[in-house]
Amino acid sequence: MSQSRRVWKPAYVGLGSNLENPARQIEAAFELLRGIPETRLIARSPLYDTAPFGVVEQPDFVNAAAALLTCLEPLDLLAKFQEIERNQGREQGGQRWGPRILDLDLLVYSDRVISEATLSVPHPGIAERNFVLLPLRDLAPELLIPGLGRVIRIPVNEQEPRITRIV
Ligand code: AMP
Repeated sequence: MSQSRRVWKPAYVGLGSNLENPARQIEAAFELLRGIPETRLIARSPLYDTAPFGVVEQPDFVNAAAALLTCLEPLDLLAKFQEIERNQGREQGGQRWGPRILDLDLLVYSDRVISEATLSVPHPGIAERNFVLLPLRDLAPELLIPGLGRVIRIPVNEQEPRITRIV
């Protein structure tokens, strides 16, 4: 009888929260990421305090990133992230860049490039937003991202609002 071999792929997640004790939401999310089936939490970045982008009349965000190894396919992993967001009380819909209890984004999945209605990988925010780039750079400066090159070489956006490492 043939047994299918599980293949572990590296994946990186961006985390953000600006409601209901954001730092605690991020800490809880790290633990929930650890609990995803067929997935290991390998590393977590420091937390950053970030001035809101877009909708400015809202609390500061806490942002971070995590490194995973997973046997799940990208869409299945995204579904797990959305389950965690819902369980942590996030309402569906809501304003783009608006306030949220928890946002989990799939930043990178191995060397895959995915352009589907529900999933864009690598996540466009990596090259656009310091709150995505800086925590990822802490975790994986030498990571080669398809279409973007090495993380350490992606320029920080000097025009963006303040971002401060907190832990
Ligand atoms: P957001 O408001 O940032 O949480 O956006 C959520 C929507 O973005 C969901 O409907 C996802 O299907 C879609 N989406 C596209 N690409 C990604 C990605 N790489 N990670 C997470 N969500 C994504």
